[in-house]
Amino acid sequence: MKSKKDKTKETLSVLPHQLSDEELEDLDVDVSDLEHFPAKNQYGYKLFDANGNTALTEQERSEMVGQLEQKFIEISEILRISRRDPNCTHTPLRIARMYVNELFKGRYNPPPQPTVFPNRKKVDELIISKGIEVMSVCSHHFQPISGECSIGYIPNDYVIGLSKLSRIVDWFARRGQIQEELGEQIADYIVELLQPKALGVVIRARHYCMIARGVKGSEEKSLMITSVMRGELLEDMNLRNEFLKLIEN
Ligand SMILES: [Zn+2]
Repeated sequence: MKSKKDKTKETLSVLPHQLSDEELEDLDVDVSDLEHFPAKNQYGYKLFDANGNTALTEQERSEMVGQLEQKFIEISEILRISRRDPNCTHTPLRIARMYVNELFKGRYNPPPQPTVFPNRKKVDELIISKGIEVMSVCSHHFQPISGECSIGYIPNDYVIGLSKLSRIVDWFARRGQIQEELGEQIADYIVELLQPKALGVVIRARHYCMIARGVKGSEEKSLMITSVMRGELLEDMNLRNEFLKLIEN
């Protein structure tokens, strides 16, 4: 059987744009020229993967928008889209702002530091928030991922406001993501924050890279469901069934 390395060597004589999407996924890319980027940001999060975090100052943010606008002007030219078309005149700037301030804003904002409250009544049952909006962008195509997230937990010493869960989801979603990692990251963060006895994070989302590209059967295939269970929800099947029943639509 051929190893991944052999495959890389074999395909090196071919330019990436000549490969199919599947072949592209198997291709190892030499990223050694990116080594000068710092590995971690001020919060200890790994940086230059698509969903790493790097909080920007207002100044850095506007510089980033300016640089991006220039690049999107070049992209328009390569795509032979004239900015004399009044609908496209300011499109490069709009796209630049959209990426920095909306689609990837979680990446450029510091992480939420929600207040947690003591669990005074010693609540020992599932607390569930469902229908939390998930608006993200897939790391593979930069196309929207749109859906909803359900979070359930059994508290230990602390509880958290439900609106804070939405903020945590939004912060992790607003960057290039793959859905599997999104669920894990949300779960890790809540575990760190609350140390709950049980935690479940279920995400149902549509991936517009499938729909927009017209991939065959994309309406069904684009719906992805991921589930992350921690603590008692991982071990106790009855509890897990109760949780899954309660978050059913
Ligand atoms: Zn995609």
